Amino acid sequence: MTTLAALGNLTSKLREIHHLRDASAVLSWDQETYMPAGSGAIRADQLATLQTFAHNQFISSEMESLLSSFLDIETGTILPAHQASLDEPAHALLRETWQDFFRAKKLPSSFVTELGRECSIAQQVWVEARKTNDFHRFLPNLERLVRLKQKEADYLGYTDSPYNALLDTYEPGSTVAQLRPLFATLRTHLIRLLDQIRNSPIQPNTDLLTQSFDTGKQLDFGRLVLKQMSYDFQRGRLDLSAHPFTTSFHPTDVRVTTRVFEHDMPSCLFSCIHEGGHGLYEQGLPTQQYGTPLGETISLGIHESQSRLWENSVGRSQSFWQYFYPKLQEFFPTQLGSVPADEFYLAINRVEPSLIRVEADELTYNLHVMVRFEIELDIIEGRVQVEDLPEMWNAKIQEYLGVTPPNDAEGVLQDVHWSFGAFGYFPTYTLGNLYAAMLFHQAKKDMVDLEQNIGQGNFLPLKNWLHDRVYRWGRQYSANDLIQRITGQALTLEPFIQDLEEKFGNLYKFPTTSSPQAST
Ligand code: ZN
Repeated sequence: MTTLAALGNLTSKLREIHHLRDASAVLSWDQETYMPAGSGAIRADQLATLQTFAHNQFISSEMESLLSSFLDIETGTILPAHQASLDEPAHALLRETWQDFFRAKKLPSSFVTELGRECSIAQQVWVEARKTNDFHRFLPNLERLVRLKQKEADYLGYTDSPYNALLDTYEPGSTVAQLRPLFATLRTHLIRLLDQIRNSPIQPNTDLLTQSFDTGKQLDFGRLVLKQMSYDFQRGRLDLSAHPFTTSFHPTDVRVTTRVFEHDMPSCLFSCIHEGGHGLYEQGLPTQQYGTPLGETISLGIHESQSRLWENSVGRSQSFWQYFYPKLQEFFPTQLGSVPADEFYLAINRVEPSLIRVEADELTYNLHVMVRFEIELDIIEGRVQVEDLPEMWNAKIQEYLGVTPPNDAEGVLQDVHWSFGAFGYFPTYTLGNLYAAMLFHQAKKDMVDLEQNIGQGNFLPLKNWLHDRVYRWGRQYSANDLIQRITGQALTLEPFIQDLEEKFGNLYKFPTTSSPQAST
């Protein structure tokens, strides 16, 4: 049995290419955190150059010949001579590398340069447009990006919808045909629960969360929580950015960001926990596989399952606050000293339809995702003009959430995604929520004392469980296969709906249905 060592030349080449990608990721991180605003144009050029170099190296004849010594370059089939001699990880490495190669090969390098530059510029224009509440300022950039993404789908090829080609970059294997019925069923459950919550006599007092909280202390508390989750600050950092995110250049350099508002304490707190979940995944990838698919995360849906598991299943649970609430009260004695834990727990779990996705509660969050999914489909399939987006956005938000944005900054301009060409990205957030619930249910089954440990601030058993089942495999399994391996089930809504029923049934005191009919 030959192991990964047999792939030595190929993995060295893949590592070299990764160095270019990581350098470009450092520049992107810097652009979002510390770069002076005046250097935007040159940064766009620098990023475009690095991305093109990496792309050209990846689709080079050298890569083709390295791959060809192991597989049929047209079909990806491993050559008979290697079929039996390569072990399972080696097979997976070749399969995933070939898929990436085959896909990248379809994109001309002039297109990659154009897209890279346009994304970097559009992102900077978006920042200004949102600040000044001026959709028309962003419109020409967005129109160009939509055209480029439609072109990308054409280059990549697709069945049924060009949206499938874009979706596949973020969540391989996922399709519009799979998402439509899944989201429709989910929506029915969410609306039912929302109605029950609306009719409940319980009204959480969220004023306690919008008192004045010193921003420095908020960041210190965020850092404390991250440390306790065993996010490793020797191999990571926490910085500020407009939109919280996680980026990684290697498992020994994984960076998370947050944002902090004096009068909105949950924002910094939960973004730290959320990004911490992403960060743990990146820090837990196998370093010896760095640069190869076996050292990479599977999909955005699985990535998001890690952040959502920590943010919602853990960070918004009673056990978590059993441990952390006394500590939070010590940080903010004037604001929270006399607030009972139950009242705080109810406040951080309040469900209320709102305008902003990233601030949305666990339940209505998914309705925000569905709105974006439908709009993206219409845009990419060419049924709607980009200039009509604000109107369409407002109508859909009203239809799904019953609220109307007072301006575009709180409406169509709120998300960064489209400004960097990320169409097809949003559905992975809801997939992440569903995967997270499936994983947490399984973790509870596997570790009977899990919640007791969380209540004592001992998160190591959970982190180790995730490491063993998710982090260490890189892309050896597809998202579906991994979930099936861990839980014994394919993607299902049931655990997620069950969690919402239980939590909000208890909090808002409405009768829960014993068996949610959600297994579609
Ligand atoms: Zn996330």
